[in-house]
Amino acid sequence: MRRKLVIGNWKMNGSRAANSVLLSGIVAGFKSGKADAAVCVPAPYLAQCEAELAETPVAWGGQDVSAYAAGAYTGEVAASMLLDFGSKFAIVGHSERRAYHGENNELVAQKALAAVNAGLVPVVCVGETLQQREAGKTAVTVCLQLQAVLDVLDTAALEKIVLAYEPVWAIGTGKTATPAMAQEVHALLRKQVAERNAAAAAGMQILYGGSMKPENAKDLLAQPDIDGGLIGGAALKAEDFLGIIEAA
Ligand code: PEP
Repeated sequence: MRRKLVIGNWKMNGSRAANSVLLSGIVAGFKSGKADAAVCVPAPYLAQCEAELAETPVAWGGQDVSAYAAGAYTGEVAASMLLDFGSKFAIVGHSERRAYHGENNELVAQKALAAVNAGLVPVVCVGETLQQREAGKTAVTVCLQLQAVLDVLDTAALEKIVLAYEPVWAIGTGKTATPAMAQEVHALLRKQVAERNAAAAAGMQILYGGSMKPENAKDLLAQPDIDGGLIGGAALKAEDFLGIIEAA
């Protein structure tokens, strides 16, 4: 039985003061029942997460990770640095990184590999644009994105990753994939992983992301292949984030 996992992606939001209010609100209201919870924060706030979450069941991580281990890569953050501050997760291949930072499938795969090699859990994001969906290219798009990652990870490493299906047209737009639409893609992704490693596919947490809120979370999370959420906007209010966790 896969446990549900709800991860907040704070994006480039926060301040020490605001984070403290948000983190203490999450910790106060979080009941670790059927779901695990984590927040992926801007790198400067990892130390704050370590200080405020270390003795709690809420995990934390980064929103990106370098494909390189160390060296002359100005602005990059290595997996070892995320681990230095107690991180468990690193989001890789978020559509905003793909769109605004030119990250392609191969680079995303290298980032996932660097994370796994260091002992972090990469949260590998895949998803189609509206144009791709309307052109009937959803399956081919997400399968190519996933395949690049499957190509660089060995079979055993597939047990150490989390996937997130995030239709680009649903991120931050208030438009959500219907539970049936999301389920269809999640099942497809799981089948693709199963072709490499059936046990890993059966155990893999595949999260849905795209305008998930307390009001729509229950129906999405009731789908057999939706194992949690990657939450943007609604992760910035403790009440909303907790509402989604509760729905899980
Ligand atoms: C995200 O950025 O990963 C995301 C799902 O954002 P939102 O929940 O705001 O759509």
